[in-house]
Amino acid sequence: MLAFTGSRLDRADHIRADPDRLAGMMNWKARLLALDGLMPGTDDAGCLAWGTLADAPEDAEFVFLGLDVSEEGQGKPCFAVVPPAGDAAPRMANPQLWSLMATMRPDDLALYGGARSIVDWHARHRFCAQCGGGTKIAKGGWQRECTSCGASHFPRTDPVTIMLVEHDGRLMLGRGKGWPEGRFSALAGFVEPGESIEEAVMREVLEESGVRARDVTYIASQPWPFPSQLMIGCHSHADDDALTIDETEMAEINWYVRDEVEAALSGDGPFVAPPPHAIAHHLMKWWIEK
Ligand SMILES: [Zn+2]
Repeated sequence: MLAFTGSRLDRADHIRADPDRLAGMMNWKARLLALDGLMPGTDDAGCLAWGTLADAPEDAEFVFLGLDVSEEGQGKPCFAVVPPAGDAAPRMANPQLWSLMATMRPDDLALYGGARSIVDWHARHRFCAQCGGGTKIAKGGWQRECTSCGASHFPRTDPVTIMLVEHDGRLMLGRGKGWPEGRFSALAGFVEPGESIEEAVMREVLEESGVRARDVTYIASQPWPFPSQLMIGCHSHADDDALTIDETEMAEINWYVRDEVEAALSGDGPFVAPPPHAIAHHLMKWWIEK
C-alpha cells in the first residue's frame, strides 16, 4: 500500500453539512489530534497522540476530520485545530518528520497526512482571494467563506504527474537541481490548466528531457501532504533515447536497465533510489516486476 493512503476515518460528509449535528458531536467524547504546529504528536508506542477538544485554545478553529470507524476508534468523531498563521509559505517536511514517518503505522500516517494538508490550507487562506476580506471556517472545516463578499473557498489538491519513461528496456530517471549527488527519481511536474494527465506527462517529459513520450497509461496515485499534492503515477514509452536536458530544472538524466533499477531499490545500485514512502519507489518496483 502507498504511504498516506488507507486512513481509518469515514469523512462523513453528511455530518460536515449539518451544523447542528456537528455541534452535537463536539463534546467530551470527541478526539483532538495532537499537533505541534504541523508536526504530529506521538505516544509511547509511536502512534498518533490524541487529546480532547478541551485541550484546544479558546479561539481555535476546528476541522472535523471524520469518524474513526476502526475497532479501537469506536466511531468517535475526530478533530484537528488550525495552527496559528505562520509565514505564508507552505511548511515542508523536516528531517525529524522523515524519521517519524518511517516508523508510523500506515493508517496513522494516512490520517496525519490528510489532517496536515487541510489545517495547513486553513492557516494559509485566512483572506479571500477574490476581494481580500477575512474568511471564516465553514462546513466542518472543508470550506472557508468570505465575511465580506460571501465567496466560498475550497481546500486545494494540486495534481502532479510522475512518470516512468521507457525505451528499449531502459528507464529514464533524473536528478533534480539541488538534489544530493547520486539521487535519481522519476520525472514529475504539475498538471497545468487546460491539460489532461496524458498531455501533462508528454509535455513534462519533452520539456525536461527533450524526449517525446507516447502511450501514457495510469498506474497509481498518492496524496502527498507537502503541502497538498495528488501524485498521479504513469508509465509511457519513448521512441528515441536522445536527451536534451533542461538545465534550469534537472541536474542529470540517465537511462537505467532493469538490473540497475532493481539494485538501486535494494540499496546497492548505481544511484540512490527514492524512499519507500514516495510513489516513485513503487513505480520503479512496478516496472521491474512487470
Ligand atoms: Zn471576498
